[in-house]
Amino acid sequence: MDDLNKFLEGFGRFRQKYFVDDSALFKRLNSQGQKPSTLVIACCDSRVDPAIITDCAPGDMFVIRNVANLVPPREIGPTNQGVSAALEFGVSVLNVERIIVLGHARCGGIAALMRDDTGAASAGYLARWIGIAETARQRVWSEFKDMPLEEQIHACELASIVVSLGNLMTFPWIRERVEAGTLKLHGWYFDLERGMLLGYERRTGQFVVMDPDFAPKD
Ligand SMILES: [Zn+2]
Repeated sequence: MDDLNKFLEGFGRFRQKYFVDDSALFKRLNSQGQKPSTLVIACCDSRVDPAIITDCAPGDMFVIRNVANLVPPREIGPTNQGVSAALEFGVSVLNVERIIVLGHARCGGIAALMRDDTGAASAGYLARWIGIAETARQRVWSEFKDMPLEEQIHACELASIVVSLGNLMTFPWIRERVEAGTLKLHGWYFDLERGMLLGYERRTGQFVVMDPDFAPKD
């Protein structure tokens, strides 16, 4: 079976589930619109679909995906700012209650940054984009300079999540809501080697393993 047939058969199962067996959810989403509580910023990587790894239903998550799940700092000007536009819509229009920056293991974007290798044929888009995480790279180089490269890449995957959490706060309409307690920011990391989900704990500056009974404290 080729991929297209696989996708169409998958859509058939999706349709059976949500439009035949139980149509209440899409009836509500159709008549009342979307009201997701959560905005997720995830990587384009095909292995880390946030709705799949959290077993979410349609309507649960407003998702922004880009290379290496990065949030650029606030920029004023005429450039096309897809992430900022989606953040603005999610926060100011949909009034989400939380934003999760979801990083992951084996991130090609972060590896390219750490190896300084975005491919010989690169038109420059990738290098410029992952440069958003330059602060994370510098941090890793200064704190873990004697570590093997693979461990530095892992450290940069985590550090870049923290950089993006900081960049979120450069948007005044995010900062105001965070300070008012109406919006929470979370850093998550999907370890696809071990099948684990880690959460950033601000108090300790560490990523800790999460499960339904144990979530990191702010
Ligand atoms: Zn990635």
